[in-house]
Amino acid sequence: MDERTYLDWNATAPLRPAARAATVGALDTAGNPSSVHAEGRAARRLVEEARLRVAALVGAEPTNLVFTSGGTEANATALSPSLRAADGRPVEVLLVSAIEHPSVLAGGRFSADAVVPVPVSPDGVLDLGALERQLGALVREGRRALVSLMHANNETGVVQPVAAAAALVHAAGGLLHVDAVQGAGRIACDIKVLGADLLTLSGHKLGGPKGVGALVRRSDAIAWPQPLIKGGGQERGARAGTENVAAIAGFGAAAAAAAHDLAVEGQRLTALRDRLEAALTAEFPQTVVFGREAERLPNTSLFALPGVKAETAVIGLDLAGVAVSSGAACSSGKVAASHVLAAMGAAGNLARGAVRVSLGYSTQEADIERFLAAWRTLAQTLFKDSRGIAA
Ligand code: PLP
Repeated sequence: MDERTYLDWNATAPLRPAARAATVGALDTAGNPSSVHAEGRAARRLVEEARLRVAALVGAEPTNLVFTSGGTEANATALSPSLRAADGRPVEVLLVSAIEHPSVLAGGRFSADAVVPVPVSPDGVLDLGALERQLGALVREGRRALVSLMHANNETGVVQPVAAAAALVHAAGGLLHVDAVQGAGRIACDIKVLGADLLTLSGHKLGGPKGVGALVRRSDAIAWPQPLIKGGGQERGARAGTENVAAIAGFGAAAAAAAHDLAVEGQRLTALRDRLEAALTAEFPQTVVFGREAERLPNTSLFALPGVKAETAVIGLDLAGVAVSSGAACSSGKVAASHVLAAMGAAGNLARGAVRVSLGYSTQEADIERFLAAWRTLAQTLFKDSRGIAA
């Protein structure tokens, strides 16, 4: 059986047909978008059309969107002590939720001792009380915070209380950056409704090409006078380098398609994900679904069956034609304990068994059935073995 079932959409989404067409079409546009001649203007049109489409997905002004090489670069750009709001006051401390993606946890251009984690609940939701206390302490010290909170977690799919956090951050005079790489295109993600000052997006998570993303600001009063990449003044001086026109065009098409399908796909994927979890827990009642009581993305399930190691399960499923991942898959091949599950207080043996199944626009019921059949075979063997060893 050659056919594969791809259930690792949080690692990357297969290219949408519309994104593919836009990318391939743009490859034949000869001009540099900074050139004034007709060829240059044609390339510029593709970039600006994509800017409109991506900005529309998050309710932003197109002029407030800067294209980057991906989510990682957008995060590193946003997390800068040089960030300024209208009042010009500097940000001195970076508060990050303990479950952020490594590209946020690394702290951008803040020194390591200026990066402070904020805890989460056992369900993987930001502890708003802790955030309020940490912000209060900074206010008393007269220091301004930049807070980075993800829209939805890449491992658990748990949606974070971004608007509530924004209210706390702004009441304390701080700024809020939201890594919306996993949420945008899957659930509503309006920069104003979320209350974010800055928002990170990545093309490949919503069905665009890999290697393109964006940093969006809520208003032009927010500026980063020291760009991460300096040079030719592209992107209004906010990010130098000739734009990746083909990838940007594909990103724009993917954003438009994702926005168009958002509500319908959300319902469809929730039903498929719930069917998967119902079957898993019915057949193996010891199964633990992480973050199950919290609001989650429609497409994500992270679970563990005690005694079944995630690496073994992922390899076994791969051999059976099913692609899933063990927790975070950003750097595949790395078998490290998940910092997300550690922050949620999950027991080590359970965390080591965490398997992430994530769905997307082309996932069908047959894919879920195929996964379940493969899991049944695998889990029965591994679970039996683990009990044999333990006995
Ligand atoms: N932020 C989150 C939440 C992610 O899941 C990822 C990728 O896995 C990134 C940022 C990095 O995005 P990119 O792969 O575009 O650099």
